[in-house]
Amino acid sequence: MEYRTLGKTGLSVSVISYGASPLGGVFHNVRETQGVETVHTALEMGMNYIDCSPYYGLTKAESVLGMALKGVERNRYILATKVGRYGDDEFDFSAERVTRSIDESLERLGVDHIDVIQCHDIEFGSIRQVIDETIPALRWAREQGKVRFIGVTGLPLTIFRKVLDEIEIDTVLSYCHYCLNDVTLDSLSPYLNEKRVGVINASALSMGLLTNSGPPDWHPAPALIRDHCAKAAAHCRERGADIAKLALQFALANPRIHTTLVGTARPENIRKNIEWMNEPIDETLLAEVRDILKPIQDQTWPSGRTENN
Ligand code: NAD
Repeated sequence: MEYRTLGKTGLSVSVISYGASPLGGVFHNVRETQGVETVHTALEMGMNYIDCSPYYGLTKAESVLGMALKGVERNRYILATKVGRYGDDEFDFSAERVTRSIDESLERLGVDHIDVIQCHDIEFGSIRQVIDETIPALRWAREQGKVRFIGVTGLPLTIFRKVLDEIEIDTVLSYCHYCLNDVTLDSLSPYLNEKRVGVINASALSMGLLTNSGPPDWHPAPALIRDHCAKAAAHCRERGADIAKLALQFALANPRIHTTLVGTARPENIRKNIEWMNEPIDETLLAEVRDILKPIQDQTWPSGRTENN
């Protein structure tokens, strides 16, 4: 496993990390024992960064993760979770709610501190409130020793500049913006680097678009993006390859990204992903797939409030 420094946090994080949303049954139903086994496999294979949220499975993912982490030495993993999002349409970035949220997460996760606490999908709220109220509340939690580092997450890339232009934070988590069909996160790299921010890339498989089984029903991508990704997946199959492998290898090759989160509740996917990571990328197939995806390259979908897109 290769490790990179997560910006100014100084934390040494595995280049491929564990995304815990599937533990909440976000993609399909998951047995708890299988979820626990997946977390243990991830840790045994050298992943040391785990990303979760009270939103995933409406607290279920945090509870299953808490079970998995019971008895595991605290210094073996870097734990990240979030505040502010509690349902598909339920957001509350108030100081009171996020402060309570940290205590609830600590309880569910069974730990006495969280390493990285992030405001979850801030484009759905008021960025002003996040800057003036939420982040100061998280700093207060940091002074109390409950959290170590502070970050924000969301889909539109504009939100990161809006926050970082005004206030200091430690990490950003971007998703679906550094994968085969969308590399726009890279255009923000010089700015993020200048701010010495830790860069976490999520959804290298574009939340299932770049897999053989395809995206879940709730996936927000419009039909045109889905169709081109399905075509690219079929092309890989015809070549005897798996698009998930190519997608993962592609995302992991970018050194400006400190860690890439991959979500799964299947131990065999963890093993497969790490195996793939250590194999050379098929450059010919990569060029063919990027050509198929060209008509939708860097296209995305709106998320949250209009003014934040
Ligand atoms: P992803 O792109 O990692 O895709 C997950 C899907 O791919 C799942 O269905 C999984 O079973 C499948 N998969 C994983 N490995 C595979 C393999 N080897 N072969 C075939 N299929 C495979 O999307 P994701 O789970 O949404 O993103 C990763 C993590 O990033 C999440 O778990 C979450 O922790 C985090 N995340 C955060 C935000 C946010 O904060 N706003 C948004 C998206 C993701």
